[in-house]
Amino acid sequence: MADYDYDLFVIGAGSGGVRAARLAAELGVRVGIAEEYRIGGTCVIRGCVPKKLLVYGSRYRSAFEDAPSFGWTYDNLKFDWPTLIGNVRREVDRLNGVYTRTLEAAGVDRFLTRAVLEDAHTVRLADRDKTITAKTILIATGGHPIIPDVPGKEHLISSNECFQLEALPDSIVIIGAGYISMEFASIFNGLGVHVTVLYRGDQILRDFDDDLRNGLAASMRKHGIDLRMNADIEAVVKEEGGYRIRLKDGDSIRAGLVMAATGRAPNIAGMGLEALGVERGWNGNIVVDEYSKSSVDTIYAVGDVTDRVNLTPVAIREANDFAETLFNNKPTPVDYDCIPTAVFSDPELGTVGLSEVKAREIYANIDLYKSLFRPMKYTLPGRDDKMLMKLVIDADTNKVLGCHILGPDAAEIVQMAAIALKMGATKADFDRTMALHPSSAEELFTMRHRWEPPKPIVGSDAAA
Ligand SMILES: Cc1cc2nc3c(=O)[nH]c(=O)nc-3n(C[C@H](O)[C@H](O)[C@H](O)COP(=O)(O)OP(=O)(O)OC[C@H]3O[C@@H](n4cnc5c(N)ncnc54)[C@H](O)[C@@H]3O)c2cc1C
Repeated sequence: MADYDYDLFVIGAGSGGVRAARLAAELGVRVGIAEEYRIGGTCVIRGCVPKKLLVYGSRYRSAFEDAPSFGWTYDNLKFDWPTLIGNVRREVDRLNGVYTRTLEAAGVDRFLTRAVLEDAHTVRLADRDKTITAKTILIATGGHPIIPDVPGKEHLISSNECFQLEALPDSIVIIGAGYISMEFASIFNGLGVHVTVLYRGDQILRDFDDDLRNGLAASMRKHGIDLRMNADIEAVVKEEGGYRIRLKDGDSIRAGLVMAATGRAPNIAGMGLEALGVERGWNGNIVVDEYSKSSVDTIYAVGDVTDRVNLTPVAIREANDFAETLFNNKPTPVDYDCIPTAVFSDPELGTVGLSEVKAREIYANIDLYKSLFRPMKYTLPGRDDKMLMKLVIDADTNKVLGCHILGPDAAEIVQMAAIALKMGATKADFDRTMALHPSSAEELFTMRHRWEPPKPIVGSDAAA
């Protein structure tokens, strides 16, 4: 048998790479890992974690607005961005240390450098004249933000730079309407920055359930965010004190900062994939089978670089199943059914299973249950925000196909609903579950009447 430096060499120490390296090492495998930036990857360093901390920070504004109706008064309320971002960075540093120590404790050798493929068993460490051989190589290099190719694109920042800002702008234009755009729009708005969102399409959050998309767009507008759909950018021009964003329809907007949230692409450039004949997908992603194996037998890939479902828990599960398959003699294909997901906008959105549109494509008969109500915590402040809950049911089997929530704690509720959907729960199972009172979540279990589309207004009513 060939003698390799390692049984497994992992390129990229993010969510997927760290999990695969640790599990493999704990199973007795000799593991090395290379990371070109910071151990922890996107999620920990410049994604989920620092973003959610900023979300928490931004939500204090509405909490303070509502506080007087609960009897609290305060003087001299101030917000200080350097304090918030400084604390966020300290937490990121702490987690970076935790991830590093986890690898260390598992006995994984760490190389803080870029690594690329030399051949099917060899990686080259870019910052030193060194190659390392391994029986198996796992590529877990994640992705990076795409900056749209418009004149003035050099002026655009991405989500990465949002965590590096030393001061907040007075206003920001965010290009794109995916989840990262919605989250940063809500963060900046909550922190007092005037936010405009520009998007080429006709509604935010493509692929989410339409009731959530429409409900969130209406709420964000009510909260003061200028959401402009069907808006195409012509150019971004630097001007005194900020930027001017010119639109193709002739309009233009001034902003202190311009952010692109126009999608992400896999980190594959210069990795040596072409020379090895590793098959790639529509946007350069590494194509893998259900066990995360690429078209080259010794090379595997997990996480965003494979562009399957680009979420942290999915990268972690893919890594877990890769390690089980290769090093624990338990071939485990990744199961992508019923992945819960959230958008930490204001209001928050949580969803699991099929949207109404998707369900109608697959199933002949769909029942809908919807509830639109004011959460109890908004009653005393008289806040006019509504919470939306929606269940999509297969009318023939009574199975719950989708659960969609817009409003406070939607993510937490949907995480638990995901267990029920994963187990194949029916609407009858929801109905016989005792409600927990008083809570918002209880609405999910008390929706007795099928939702019927409003009847079209005809005859003399229509004219009235
Ligand atoms: C702003 C933002 C918010 C997000 N919020 C959420 C959320 O709320 N929930 C959620 O589930 N997901 C969220 N995500 C997505 C999530 O962060 C990713 O799906 C996840 O991090 C993917 O993990 P990964 O292991 O594939 O890659 P990553 O975590 O990106 O790790 C890849 C690592 O590889 C390193 N690397 C790249 N090339 C090389 C090389 N050649 N040599 C050495 N190292 C290399 C990179 O520096 C990086 O550290 C968010 C992403 C962003 C950008």
